[in-house]
Amino acid sequence: MSYIGLARKFRPKNFDEIVEQDHVTKIIKNAIIENRVVHSYLFSGPRGCGKTSMARIFAKALNCENGPTVNPCDVCKNCIDISKNSSIDVFEIDGASNNGIDEIRSLIENVKFSSINSRYKIYIIDEIQQITIQAFNALLKTLEEPPPHVIFIMATTEINKIPITILSRCQKYKFKLISAQKMRIAIKKIINVESFDVDDDAIDIIIRHSDGSMRDALTILDQSVFLKDKKVTGDDLRKLLGFVPIDIISSITDDIAKGDKESILVTIKKIVDDGYSVIQFIKDLKLHFRQIMICSINDEIIDVSNEYRNILSNQKEKFSTGNYLRIINLLSKAIEEMRWNDQQILTAEVYLLKISEPYYDIESLVNKIDFILEDINNLKFNKTLIGNNFKSIEIIWTEILDKILNEHQLSAQPLKRILIDFVNEFEIKFIATNEFDYECFLKFYEKILELFREKINTNFKVYINIDNMKKNVAKNVSDIGENLYKDGNESTPEHIQKIAKDFESIAKKIKT
Ligand SMILES: [Zn+2]
Repeated sequence: MSYIGLARKFRPKNFDEIVEQDHVTKIIKNAIIENRVVHSYLFSGPRGCGKTSMARIFAKALNCENGPTVNPCDVCKNCIDISKNSSIDVFEIDGASNNGIDEIRSLIENVKFSSINSRYKIYIIDEIQQITIQAFNALLKTLEEPPPHVIFIMATTEINKIPITILSRCQKYKFKLISAQKMRIAIKKIINVESFDVDDDAIDIIIRHSDGSMRDALTILDQSVFLKDKKVTGDDLRKLLGFVPIDIISSITDDIAKGDKESILVTIKKIVDDGYSVIQFIKDLKLHFRQIMICSINDEIIDVSNEYRNILSNQKEKFSTGNYLRIINLLSKAIEEMRWNDQQILTAEVYLLKISEPYYDIESLVNKIDFILEDINNLKFNKTLIGNNFKSIEIIWTEILDKILNEHQLSAQPLKRILIDFVNEFEIKFIATNEFDYECFLKFYEKILELFREKINTNFKVYINIDNMKKNVAKNVSDIGENLYKDGNESTPEHIQKIAKDFESIAKKIKT
């Protein structure tokens, strides 16, 4: 007996076996139960998601000898004939091959004769978007006034190509891509029934490469168990399909994050030398980036094995969302270019070097600009104060303090508590927080002034702020600043005003 493909062997036999399309199944079941079946249906959605299976089961439900029923018996002649595609009342037409006006004409000719062994004459037309405009027009006439015993079930992967005149005469159902989670359950069930030994890594690969199409998933599973005698690991599958091992994908992702161009080029060379397909490698890398991106947003959205989830979790912080979009976009372009040119290795190299370039999205760019502006302001400020010497004013003050403390170890100690603040690029402010420190500052002010002028070749003003003495400690510079008089005050002691004058400035006093 010849081998029956898994996709055929595990084709859904009843409504409940159709994966992921409960929203459609429910309405169709209700229509059957309530006897509200209409004459034309249009199923749209991606390939391999169950449209044709749904149409066949629907046909069985309507024509089963024990029907119409939501649970076709699958054992009566009508059910068996429909399953084998040999029913004389159920016609399956592939729009892609019977797209001519003549085929549709003969179909329509046939429509007017009543069914032979069943309740309904059912036309299942797959890939209906492929038929010609003339054929559509011919079909339209029948859809406008279908004989009571005729039902059309049309399926399409491209609903946008169906003329509006046809669309408006059909009940339309949109089929969904099969989620990774549902697909995993379905694949595991089949593996179990068939006693295959397929590891989680391999199931991951099957799910990722089938793009939500159950038919594609089962075709990959078919190929792998056929070649590997029912025992398949992820690495077997990668070799079989020409996929690069996950550790290489993962390590080149790290290199891209680091911008390690040399390592990236070495890896590409290794992939080529080991005989892997470069275009397949770029496709896998793109898929990998997509998974990390999703994982970085919410790792509960993706359905992958625990091992692979760990890899994704370790890498998800390495790129920003904006950068993921950029990388995935560039990898898509690379794949597109590789399809049309014969320099695949060069294209891979160019694009991978490109995506390893540093990237700033708007948010991080704005932060960076803020940071730079702040830097420039500080730099400008300090530079003016200290001439062309790039030392900050704090460092200069520390040097001055050190020098004075060297010579006056005990008596100069209070100077350590003197706070220093910049008013603007030409003014500095010394702040004493108590009388004792203030007196100490006065004692050394000539020296301080001299040392400042030595170090800074700029004339600058100085404010000397004195705490009102009741307040022993000022918490910080700005606390004091808020309590300052705005202008020079008559009550400021004369000797302080003199000091201020030496600095070509005015003295201020803390408000009482
Ligand atoms: Zn039956």
